[in-house]
Amino acid sequence: SSRPRSMSLVSQSGEEQIAGEYNKNYATLKQIGKGAYGCVKMAYRRADRLLCVAKFILKEKVGAAFWSDAPDGRRVPLELSLLLMLNHPNIVRVIDWFENDKYFQMVMEKHGAGMDLFEFIERRPRLDEPLLSYIFRQIGQAVEYLHSLSILHRDIKDENVIIDNKFHVKLIDFGSATFMSRDTLFSTFYGTTEYCSPEVLAGNKYAGPELEMWSMGITLYVLTFFVNPFSDIEDTIQGPLTFPQVVSEELEQLLRWMLCKDPLARCTVPQLMAHAWMRQPVAIDHYAFQDVVDCDRHEANPEMYFSGSLGSPRSASPVSLADPLAKERSLPSEPV
Ligand code: ADP
Ligand code: MG
Ligand code: MG
Repeated sequence: SSRPRSMSLVSQSGEEQIAGEYNKNYATLKQIGKGAYGCVKMAYRRADRLLCVAKFILKEKVGAAFWSDAPDGRRVPLELSLLLMLNHPNIVRVIDWFENDKYFQMVMEKHGAGMDLFEFIERRPRLDEPLLSYIFRQIGQAVEYLHSLSILHRDIKDENVIIDNKFHVKLIDFGSATFMSRDTLFSTFYGTTEYCSPEVLAGNKYAGPELEMWSMGITLYVLTFFVNPFSDIEDTIQGPLTFPQVVSEELEQLLRWMLCKDPLARCTVPQLMAHAWMRQPVAIDHYAFQDVVDCDRHEANPEMYFSGSLGSPRSASPVSLADPLAKERSLPSEPV
């Protein structure tokens, strides 16, 4: 595939990641996804076996501009303090956090089976436009909420959105996020170049929302056609926007507006949310996840296996495939 996933080049020790109070409260399981990044793992709360997701943030990798002061005076990564203050159905929730000498350990809710939109797209989902609109409008709602709080995410892309079997999506990864202000322009870009707008790639300063709209436009394009619209930086700046397949006039018009090279003429968040294509009716109950993407039983129906709290002998007995305790025992690298 020509859509590379971001990779972490930092090699990290599992022992150091989990050390401290975190490890007293949570048991750490396998790494999530394909294992390209070394720092997001499944975990469960020892007290009640609640399954969750732990992100290990290496302190030395947090840039100077990405720290904030917690109410108690401690310095915490902005990624963590932002997520702690946010409350929105389309933004992942943090349920706990800890730190040791080297790491912050951020415990998040587990949403669905742990599939992000990168993997969803890799599976070539059979999406019609109403369902596509339903998925994408939730990203719009999250961004609208963030901008109302003067927060810019700055790394909106398929990998940073997770989806469950009801097509409910949540935005994750606030590691590039920041506060914007009316009279300050940014000059450094922190996200992913494939999702970066032409004017910012060309070296111009940016206010924020217009950059976010471009990356949302790339995300919508990729969800629609499963390929990137532009091949490289030069193409993003100069190249025409082409459509590999026929889509509705409304969707084509919206994509052209979101991916308008002139930031001043580009669609805004209020315009996006008011757009007819975004507001079309969707009979979401008529779609079954396993009909849209090929998936295994636990992805189609995670609640059957992971009913929030595991291990109750009275709940439907989980198959060993999905039993985190069985997984932990069978992993030789896992600390005892
Ligand atoms: P990074 O900053 O290294 O990109 P992310 O926060 O984006 O880290 O997490 C990396 C990947 O881990 C995501 O692309 C997603 O696949 C998975 N992931 C992260 N948080 C969650 C979560 N709460 N639920 C499910 N999967 C998650
Ligand atoms: Mg990410
Ligand atoms: Mg990140």
